[in-house]
Amino acid sequence: MAYKTVNPYNNELVKEYPNATADEIESALSTGQALYKKWRNEPVADRGIILHTIADLLREHEDELAKIATIDMGKLLSESKGEVELCAIIADYYDDNGADLLKPTPISSRNTGDAEIYHQATGVLMMVEPWNFPYYQIMRVFAPNFMVGNPMILKHASNTPGSAAAFEKIVEEAGAPAGSLTNLFASYDQVADIIADPRVQGVALTGSKRGGQSVAENAGKNLKKNSMELGGSDAFVVLSDADIDKAVDLAWRVRIYNAGQVCTSDKRFIVADNLYDEFLKKLKASFEKLVPGDPMDPKTTLAPMNSARAKSKLQGQIDKAVAGGAKVYYGNQPIDLPGQFLQPTILTDISKDNPEFYDEMFGPVAQVFKVSSDQEAIDLANDSELGLGGIVVSKDPQHGKAVAEKIETGMVFVNSFLVSLPELPFGGIKGSGYGREMSALGLTAFTNEKLIVTA
Ligand code: NAP
Repeated sequence: MAYKTVNPYNNELVKEYPNATADEIESALSTGQALYKKWRNEPVADRGIILHTIADLLREHEDELAKIATIDMGKLLSESKGEVELCAIIADYYDDNGADLLKPTPISSRNTGDAEIYHQATGVLMMVEPWNFPYYQIMRVFAPNFMVGNPMILKHASNTPGSAAAFEKIVEEAGAPAGSLTNLFASYDQVADIIADPRVQGVALTGSKRGGQSVAENAGKNLKKNSMELGGSDAFVVLSDADIDKAVDLAWRVRIYNAGQVCTSDKRFIVADNLYDEFLKKLKASFEKLVPGDPMDPKTTLAPMNSARAKSKLQGQIDKAVAGGAKVYYGNQPIDLPGQFLQPTILTDISKDNPEFYDEMFGPVAQVFKVSSDQEAIDLANDSELGLGGIVVSKDPQHGKAVAEKIETGMVFVNSFLVSLPELPFGGIKGSGYGREMSALGLTAFTNEKLIVTA
């Protein structure tokens, strides 16, 4: 059985889940297709009520849901609770705004008739999601498409089946009709078959470049619209006029949140030379204060990574970077606990020919670079195959904004944590993928933008 929960804090096998059967897959497709046809004849606003109930249920079951996520993938319990609340906020947002945003958009045209764009459902969607935010990743696709009227089939990560099943149960309990969201413990081959099925009209994936390439290839072969939310090795740019304490306070939080396993948590820290030494010293001091331990314990501030595989991959990347000339300024020592802990590590002197220069380090590792001008910072930030998010820190917001404008990426925050909220579009460019989730853009990611002209 490929789907299982292994608690990364103590390596205990909690539960295994049987693979999806051919009958379950057919049932998900036919139920979804029937629901799509039914929803086509129902007002969009009616579905908002169910989203509102989902938000209520998420809040009511926050503790229980948070524990499931923490046992599945190891994040701090407080972070899991925050994730459940964010999901409720997203559901509420699409309930409050979805119906209005989906009203036909009039176009002024030289044609004699009235031209309008209708934003209509297209059919069943396949969504493939990662473990790092086991509820939020589902909700980003689920809430907007539920409003639109696109039924969804979910293939979640093989290490977060408990969270996938719990999310599906909340949707059911809220009274959503069968087929609204069907979780399947599907293999890669089964996912490929589902994508090829004529009843499926779109594919949304969040995950790695490797996963994205494979699923996008299947989607492309079958001419299915798709959106790809992939990795990031974002730049955190500390300009020469930054408040150093503010910069460091943002930097360590960004890098350690979710044990550093966030697509948008900046992995490359690009620091003006006048602040570089102090930045390193203070970042190290922040890392030294972290307390590894049971993620359920409120005193713990450093969570384990999500799996033995993820930790071993990151350790291999650190070793490769060091063999390629990088210096360990702090960390890279074993942590004497049985779980998948990796000591927060600061790497410097990573030259362009280092084998890890272009790689995403998905865990608590900070690569720190020194630059002597804004232009050098921008060039280094843009010297990446990825372009998801980024942060710029400056005492002068206009200066920060001017630099932010030149960074080739999907989202940049000046003097702030990069936060994901339902009204803000989320997504990247280059190797970080294409398409946007959330906001009005995410709502129409899988709609038929249908033109109707009435003479
Ligand atoms: P991953 O290996 O690509 O897994 C993500 C999901 O894709 C999982 O459900 C996985 O299933 C599935 N998958 C992978 N290959 C597949 C295939 N050929 N066919 C069908 N399904 C396939 O990603 P990961 O390494 O676990 O996640 C971390 C990556 O995701 C990082 O690069 C991170 O930056 C990125 N990420 C991006 C965003 C964003 O919004 N842009 C958000 C979070 C994470 P299995 O678990 O069964 O392998």
